[in-house]
Amino acid sequence: MSATRVLVLNSGSSSVKYQLLDMRDSSRLAAGLVERIGEQSSRLKHTPLATGGDPREWTGPIADHDAALKAVSEELSKDGLGLDSPELVAIGHRVVHGGKTFTEPTVIDETVLAEIERLIPVAPLHNPANLTGIRTARALRPDLPQVAVFDTAFHTTMPESAARYAIDVATADAHRIRRYGFHGTSHAYVSRATAKLLGKAPEDVNVIVLHLGNGASASAVRGGRCVDTSMGLTPLEGLVMGTRSGDTDPAVIFHLARVGKMSIDEIDTLLNKKSGLVGLCGDNDMREIQRRIDEGDEQAELAFDIYIHRLKKYIGAYYAVLGTVDAIAFTAGVGENAAPVREAAVAGLETLGPAVDRELNAVRSDEPRLISPADARVKVAVVPTDEELEIATQTYALVSRH
Ligand code: ADP
Repeated sequence: MSATRVLVLNSGSSSVKYQLLDMRDSSRLAAGLVERIGEQSSRLKHTPLATGGDPREWTGPIADHDAALKAVSEELSKDGLGLDSPELVAIGHRVVHGGKTFTEPTVIDETVLAEIERLIPVAPLHNPANLTGIRTARALRPDLPQVAVFDTAFHTTMPESAARYAIDVATADAHRIRRYGFHGTSHAYVSRATAKLLGKAPEDVNVIVLHLGNGASASAVRGGRCVDTSMGLTPLEGLVMGTRSGDTDPAVIFHLARVGKMSIDEIDTLLNKKSGLVGLCGDNDMREIQRRIDEGDEQAELAFDIYIHRLKKYIGAYYAVLGTVDAIAFTAGVGENAAPVREAAVAGLETLGPAVDRELNAVRSDEPRLISPADARVKVAVVPTDEELEIATQTYALVSRH
């Protein structure tokens, strides 16, 4: 196959993020973002990485996703990389929810679109936006293979014992209630990159991956396959996040409804948007929280401690799930950058095997690296995630086989 370029699209309800990659060497040719689609002040930011030119920004009305994608194509065309280029071999779409159906990246056809649509009730915010992005791209290049890469796919290997909630089976099945997990593309990429860092095949290592961004999730990966993850039916379950509570007693919801007289929508907003770090201390950016802690702010310190306590509980749980652990890998905005979070999360776990070397932990780098002392029985790694590269790699691998 001569064409080697893959466009990766991540379509939100009012935004589109994109990257164009050349899969001959996995290099990035361009990257950008369209925001505030549908408003008067939509913004397009385009970085022409292939030419090394300066980022170009444009503000003005972009009515819908169709107009957004056309604007992106125009920007790409300025460097000879437009959507009409014969070098473009496929478009890879990030799709948040693939349910139980989609265990692998999938070439999109009408049946696939219908199934993604059928999953809207379990992903009401994300799947409609992803579908809009796919339909728009298909209309622009109907001849081009388009591939859906699902956030849930990596977690479909979880055994039933981890994937099911202990609630009435008939009710759960009728409403497709189970633990799906998210951030799967990142967990897949990072667990494999961690194995590589250890000089081993993914099949030969057990890894605990801690994806700590604004959203955060942990996963237990045995021999390259996910056996448990902290997010569930939705991304609300699990770790303390920027604005999400993570685990709470479900009875908190009944209590807020019955006693607090809050509506279901208000509780949804409370737990998803006004909880986690922002609910605990008013800030969801770990940099700001660290700055406040350095100034002696007790509220910020408590928020940090609650965040770390939950993280430790999941590390402990995944030790028990995996039996033996070769490495703990930190990734995403907080995991890649916040040395104090990494140090605190692993502190006191030395008898289990992992340890963090202070000097190595303080090093700033974009490269995957070990931050544990050479003699640590369990390695601790920092592995920058790259979901776009993973989507492009999976897309290219799939269309190359066809
Ligand atoms: P998402 O993709 O979920 O929006 P990211 O993975 O980009 O999130 O992570 C964003 C978060 O990373 C920010 O909210 C901030 O808390 C954290 N972060 C980014 N840079 C740093 C840094 N240098 N130190 C500490 N935290 C950081």
